[in-house]
Amino acid sequence: MLHIAPRLHRIKPSPSSMAGQRARELRALGRDILSLTAGEPDFETPEHIKEAATRAMAAGQTRYTDVGGTPALKEAIAAKLQNENGLNYAPGEIIVGTGAKQVIFNALMCTVAAGDEVIVPAPYWVSYPDIALLAGGVPVFVDCPAANRFKLQPADLERAITGKTRWLMLNSPNNPSGATYTRTELQALAEVLRRHPQVWILTDDIYEHLIYGDVEFATMAQAAPDLKDRTLTVNGVSKAYAMTGWRIGYGAGPSELIKAMVKLQSQSTSGPNSIAQAAAIAALAGPQDIVAANRREYQQRRDTVVAALNAIDGIHCQVPEGAFYVFASCSALFGLCTPKGVEIGSSDDWIMHLLDAQDLAALQGSAYGVPTHFRLSFAASTEQLLEGCRRIARARNELV
Ligand code: PLP
Repeated sequence: MLHIAPRLHRIKPSPSSMAGQRARELRALGRDILSLTAGEPDFETPEHIKEAATRAMAAGQTRYTDVGGTPALKEAIAAKLQNENGLNYAPGEIIVGTGAKQVIFNALMCTVAAGDEVIVPAPYWVSYPDIALLAGGVPVFVDCPAANRFKLQPADLERAITGKTRWLMLNSPNNPSGATYTRTELQALAEVLRRHPQVWILTDDIYEHLIYGDVEFATMAQAAPDLKDRTLTVNGVSKAYAMTGWRIGYGAGPSELIKAMVKLQSQSTSGPNSIAQAAAIAALAGPQDIVAANRREYQQRRDTVVAALNAIDGIHCQVPEGAFYVFASCSALFGLCTPKGVEIGSSDDWIMHLLDAQDLAALQGSAYGVPTHFRLSFAASTEQLLEGCRRIARARNELV
C-alpha cells in the first residue's frame, strides 16, 4: 500500500491547474468550452528570446549550471534590478529558480518552522497558503475587502503580527485583484514593519510590467530601503515576456537567505534549465518594446471586459490597475436559483453554473480567499472576452 506522507495532506492541488484540466476534459467530450482561467499570456515568446535559446543549445550550453543560476544571468538580473528598480544587489544576493514559484517555495521551506506564521493578505495567489502549510507553517489571512481596493491596511497588518510571524507576503500587482500598491502605501506598511524586526517581507513582483494607465510600480526594498535587509524581492520572466513554460524566476535578498535557498535547491532541482537561463538573459537584456506593446493590448482588453461585466445585472468589478485578471463580485446573485433548482450560495456555485449552463470556465473566488468574487483572465482575445461576457449575461438571466 502506498503511504502518502502527512505533509501532503496539508495541501490541495492548485485550483487554476485543476480548472484548466477540467476545461480540457470537457472539450475532449465535445463541449465548446471557453476558458477564461489562464494565468499566462496568450502571446508567443518573442523570437529573439527563442533564438538565444537555439544559440545556447548550438554552443553546447547543455550541462548543469551553477545551482543558483549562471553568472551571466545573475548579472542580467542585477542590472535589471538596478536600472528598473534602483536596487543594488550583488551576485551572491541573487538566486535563479525554476519559476518564481520555486523561489517562493525555497524561501518558505528554508525559513518557516512548525507553527511559524505567514501573513497572507486576501485575496491572495493560490499557492502562498499551501507552500506555507507544506513548510509546516500557519497561514494567517488578513481580509483586504473591495472597499479598501483589495489592499492591506497598516492597522490590519499591525493586528495580524505576533511573535511567531516570520513573513508578510506582498504581491503587487496582485493576482487575482490587480491591486497595485503605490510607494506611499508601501511606506505606510513599512512603518508598521519597522516595529517588528522578526517579520520578513516577501514581495512577489511577477506582474511588475503589466501595469496600466499612469500607475507606477513600486517595490518594498526600494520604497523602504532600511527594510532591504529583511526583504526578498521575487520576480521572473514568465508574465512580462510570455515565458511561462521556460520556468525561470529569481529572488534577490540578503546573502544568508540566498545561501540557504541555494543549499535547498542543490538537493532538489540542482538548478534551473541551462537553455532557459540563456533565453532569460535575452529577455532581460534585449529589446523591451514587446513588453510595452503587450501592455497596451492588455489595457484595451481590460477596459473591454470591465465595461462588459459591469453592464451585467448583479455583477460588479473594479478596474484592475495591473496583472491580467478581473476580480468581479457575484454576491448580488446569492439566493437566486438555477433552472435545475440549485441555489447560488457562493462563487463556487456560480462558477459551476457558468460551466454547466454556458460552457464558460472561470475561477471561484474561494480559491483566492474571497468567496463573494470570481476571477476572469483577460489573457485572451477581445472576441473571446466579449463572448465570455455574453455567456455570463445569459447565465445570469437564467437565474430566478
Ligand atoms: N506569483 C504570482 C502572483 C503568480 O500569479 C504566478 C503565476 O501565476 C507566479 C508567482 C508563478 O510564476 P512562475 O511562472 O515564475 O513560477
